[in-house]
Amino acid sequence: MPAYDPNNIFAKILRGEMPSYKVYEDDKVLAFLDIMPRAPGHTLVLPKASARNILDVSPDDFAAVAKAGQKIAKAAMKVFNADGITIQQFNEGAGGQVVFHLHLHVIPRKTGVPMKPPASEKEKPDVLSDHALKLSAALKDG
Ligand code: AMP
Repeated sequence: MPAYDPNNIFAKILRGEMPSYKVYEDDKVLAFLDIMPRAPGHTLVLPKASARNILDVSPDDFAAVAKAGQKIAKAAMKVFNADGITIQQFNEGAGGQVVFHLHLHVIPRKTGVPMKPPASEKEKPDVLSDHALKLSAALKDG
């Protein structure tokens, strides 16, 4: 497996070199909206520590990502009036991974509404801002 590349786009977001629509942060995890959501509220959950994917992440960091993902899933059910949640996590190109810093996809779902294809359409900034605000507020409320 190739070494971790500190110039990947999520590493730049983690360092504050690029913007994101942040929804959650703790000492081990950052979560922000996917800018090409497969459904409204599509969120990415990352370990702050450098990890390419499931094959090199520390078990503790992976557990922290899972824990945050569960919190976000519960909040997203309410905020987006969802009927379900799809969790995805891709590893290496052959596994569907495009950005090589580990991330969990948390995707709110509505009955009968298929997900858009990956990276099909960039969402409008005002929609993303609104969704990030609502989701982060719901997460603060507990
Ligand atoms: P994957 O590595 O296959 O899990 O996919 C990477 C995901 O990152 C895709 O869903 C993209 O839409 C998303 N993405 C790419 N660039 C950004 C960005 N700057 N901010 C938020 N999401 C992004």
